[in-house]
Formats: sequence, C-alpha cells, structure tokens
Amino acid sequence: MLKIGSHVSFKKDTQLLGSLEEALSYGANTFMFYTGAPQNTNRVPLSDELTLKAKEEMKKHKIDINDIVVHAPYIINLANGDENKYNFSISFLKQECKRCEIIGIDKLIIHPGSHVGLGEDVGIKNIINALNEILPTTKTNILLETMAGKGSEVGKNFEEIKKIIDGVGEKDKIGICLDSCHLSDSGYDVSDFDKILDKLSDLNILSKVKCIHINDSKNVCGSKKDRHENFGYGTIGFGSLINIIYNKRLENIPKILETPYIEGFPPYKFEIEMIKEKKYNKNLKEDVINFYKN
Ligand code: FE
Ligand code: FE
Ligand code: ZN
Repeated sequence: MLKIGSHVSFKKDTQLLGSLEEALSYGANTFMFYTGAPQNTNRVPLSDELTLKAKEEMKKHKIDINDIVVHAPYIINLANGDENKYNFSISFLKQECKRCEIIGIDKLIIHPGSHVGLGEDVGIKNIINALNEILPTTKTNILLETMAGKGSEVGKNFEEIKKIIDGVGEKDKIGICLDSCHLSDSGYDVSDFDKILDKLSDLNILSKVKCIHINDSKNVCGSKKDRHENFGYGTIGFGSLINIIYNKRLENIPKILETPYIEGFPPYKFEIEMIKEKKYNKNLKEDVINFYKN
C-alpha cells in the first residue's frame, strides 16, 4: 500500500489532532512532525486529551499510528564531543524519546550529527556512545537519516551509517531514514534506486530502512548542498522520484515530503495528487497559490 504524507506542524493548542487534520487536508495517510520548533528545544506540555482524540480520528480514517514519525530538532548533535553540547544533546534526545512514548509514536528520526572538525571516526564514536546511553532508556526506535554531506556531516554514505549501527548495542531499536535529496547531493545516483537498495542489502542494512524522505534537489548529484526542491522540479526529476515511491522493495514504508513551501503555502496537497496519479503537474506553483489564496 502506498503510504504518502508530508511533514506537518504540531501546534500548542491542537497538537497531534491538528497535525492529523493538516495531513488529511493534503490527502495524506501518514505524516511527520516536530514536537516543537525544529530550530529550538522549547517544548509544550503534551495533552492526553488531544492525543486520544487524534487516535480516534486516525481509526476513522484508517491511518496507522505506526506509520507516523517524529523528527528531532536540528540542534541536537551527538557527534560533537564538546562536553556541554554532547550532554545537552543526549539529555534532550532522551526527553524527545519520552515525548514520543507519551504520544504513542515509535519512530524518531535524527540527523546523526556533525563532527565539527574532529574527523569522521571520532564523530562516529561519539554518536555510538550517545546512542548506547539513550536507547536502553526508551522504547522509541531511533532512525538515522542519511545526510547530504554538507560541512562536517556524519552519515553521508551507507558505510558510515553501517559503522554506527554496528556499534550500537540495542540494534532492534535502530533504523534508517533515506532522504532522496540528501542521497543525490551526497553523490548517489538515485535514478537507479535498485542499485542503491542492492548496496544497502550488501551491507546487511536494507531491512533497517523504516522511512523515506522524498524530496527533489535544487543542486546536481554530489553537490553536498542539501537544498530541497518541489516534487519533480529539481535535478532528480519526476520520473526518478516516482520510481522510488513505487519501488516494490520499499512497499509499505512511509514516504514523507519535505519540499519547500511556495510563496508561503504548503505544496503537499498537489504534490500528493501528482504522486497518486503518477502524472506531472506543470502548473504546481500556480495551483498551490490559487488554492490557498482564496
Ligand atoms: Fe532531516
Ligand atoms: Fe530529510
Ligand atoms: Zn535536507
């Protein structure tokens, strides 16, 4: 079954119920959210009442809560060995895992981190140590996102991801989130996605893939930039992205759009329409603007 959605907001007053309603307005059957602003660690108290209402609504709309994912804020960096930053990242991630448990979501996506000049090996070691401290304290599964390789990002290739997984004790709680824009920017040819999946399979980590971020890229393959583009409007292109979404080996894995807003409006309703119909909409920008302006 096609599981397609986007990242949606999580607001203080509506919480999971608001996120669900936003996703439904896009025609989505899954979604991803940050439990607060992605750039900071301010988090509002969770309302059990809103969570409960949201879960009832999900049942009505046949949305499986196991398909919904949370993304941790960007400022967490498990690769940085600086004692203050490292300890802060660990304690904040523990809290974030707890928040996922309270809401009832079992998958939390993190960016592995940036080694800030310490080198990949030290960065990877720091990430492993941090995960080994965090995972035993929670039921939440942590998904490592594959990165574009900008700056000193760790996790820009499958070998680095594999090293992290190998070092983690509680392996059944660790997974992978592929991001099509990041893969292309880091140098993988995503137009032949079976080859990419073969590579993951060779490394024995294909079964770890639990979520896919579907984004086009503003930059060419290998650019290491990480700038997302609207579906079908970037260097990856409509056909290749559709092939990733409908790849048989990735069936039932939630696909999440993180494409940019168009003049302040979310593009997801129209991008999801394109995906379901497998038909390129050359008027995406106009359609989005016209729909939300009125
Ligand atoms: Fe991400
Ligand atoms: Fe992503
Ligand atoms: Zn990105």
